[in-house]
Amino acid sequence: MMIPLARPDITELEKRYVLEVLDSGQLSFGEKLHQFEQLFCDELQMRHAVAMNSGTSALHVAVKALGLQEGDEVITTPYSFVASSNCLLYEGATPVFVDIDPLTLNIDTKKIEEAITARTKAILAVHVFGQVCQMDEIMRIARNHNLFVIEDACEALGAEWKGKKAGTFGDVSVFAFYANKQVTTGEGGILVTNSDHLYELACSLRNQGRSMQNSWLEHHRIGYNYRMSDLQAAVGLAQMQRLQELLQKREQVADRYMKLIEKHRLPVILPARMSEAKISWFVFVLILPQEADQQQVISFLSSKGIQTKPYFPSIHLQPYYQKWYSEAPRSFPVSEQMSKRTLAIPFHNNLTAEEQEYVIEHVSLALARG
Ligand SMILES: *Cc1c(COP(=O)(O)O)cnc(C)c1O
Repeated sequence: MMIPLARPDITELEKRYVLEVLDSGQLSFGEKLHQFEQLFCDELQMRHAVAMNSGTSALHVAVKALGLQEGDEVITTPYSFVASSNCLLYEGATPVFVDIDPLTLNIDTKKIEEAITARTKAILAVHVFGQVCQMDEIMRIARNHNLFVIEDACEALGAEWKGKKAGTFGDVSVFAFYANKQVTTGEGGILVTNSDHLYELACSLRNQGRSMQNSWLEHHRIGYNYRMSDLQAAVGLAQMQRLQELLQKREQVADRYMKLIEKHRLPVILPARMSEAKISWFVFVLILPQEADQQQVISFLSSKGIQTKPYFPSIHLQPYYQKWYSEAPRSFPVSEQMSKRTLAIPFHNNLTAEEQEYVIEHVSLALARG
């Protein structure tokens, strides 16, 4: 048996839309891109959405559009995918890490205010593994200290905090569509905002600094080619039309895992789910017992054809990071602990009950081996 960590859920609809684009003769800035962005706005009830070629690009544009630059500090977490902090480094801004809550693995809201200085300009909140941060509290702190809020909602499409959707709280929010996300375009990302000003800037930055009013070869600022092609948007449009189905399938697979974990009495815990939060399942992560050897578990499972990954290594411990950071890197004990203990196991929409049983049995065996 060979069970991959992730697998996209592609149907005839995605294929049909891609063929329609190929037949249309317009492979960029076409109808599908427009429809995809529009559907995204409708789904989130937001005014603007700007699709790009990756979540990382969209995060970079968010940071740049807010004018964050050298000397500015942005509060974020080290327990995340590197892009959520790299997007600040691209502009010379300083990520100021705040440790995570050991239960939810999201930013520890109680520790935010002590990290705020005269240079702090924004909070970049990462909704890890599809659970939204305590956004009402984060927005309150941001208002009190006059800070921007960026939501890295790349793992949280469809998630909610107190009935309000992820990506609708901050000044600007970003989702991603890499092949393992809830909705995929192969590669892709999208920036959403209610601000007309940020929207215009984002459109310009993704498109070589062009402005909406002027001609193709007039450039108003240094921009990038961060455009999403219509082939990608076609896949995204079909996926967004299937969003409820996609999210329900993931929930079913997650529920089955939770039952199996109970049945096999696995000595693991799962990231805690806040009662105010509605999770959107992105990955299925186990927190291994403190004494377990994460690397040994990974190799044992790999020898049985089960792909797993240590999600997430702490960003401040990445080799290049230690060089980049001018000050001595501080330690973030909860993040470091969790990096040693968390393990993502195979998780996708069409994982069968048999495959899940096989995975859990072997995790159980791996842990029993000590
Ligand atoms: C997926 C992801 C991104 C963006 O990744 P891309 O591969 O550039 O689309 C950013 N932040 C987090 C937390 C992610 O999981």
